[in-house]
Amino acid sequence: MEPKEVNKNLSEQAKKVLFEKGTEAPFSGEYVDTDEQGMYTCANCGNPLFSSETKFHSGTGWPSFDQALPGAVEFHEDVTHGMHRTEVVCAKCGAHLGHVFNDGPAETTGKRFCINSVCLDLEKNQSAGENK
Ligand SMILES: [Zn+2]
Repeated sequence: MEPKEVNKNLSEQAKKVLFEKGTEAPFSGEYVDTDEQGMYTCANCGNPLFSSETKFHSGTGWPSFDQALPGAVEFHEDVTHGMHRTEVVCAKCGAHLGHVFNDGPAETTGKRFCINSVCLDLEKNQSAGENK
């Protein structure tokens, strides 16, 4: 599936990553060290992708998750740049999000979804704390 632009408010950098499979500079992204609770959605189409519950600090400089929401993403073989990697794309709009690696936390899934901040929007969980 060819990614199609839906969000007309995307930055030039976001477009480069989402539609040309670019990579943002490590430690440059808005959500690298974010601990806020909520749902990470596709910056292009708004599809819910990752829960903040699955986010962890990988030290790589990109937001990292140990799993995606069921059915939220699709995987493609990526053999560019002399590497054999698995690309992660949005299942709804086909936009590039990042890659998934098998060196994540062993106590959960063992996966590390390495996702560009610029591909994500965080919808903060407004109800957090209400039940306390
Ligand atoms: Zn999308």
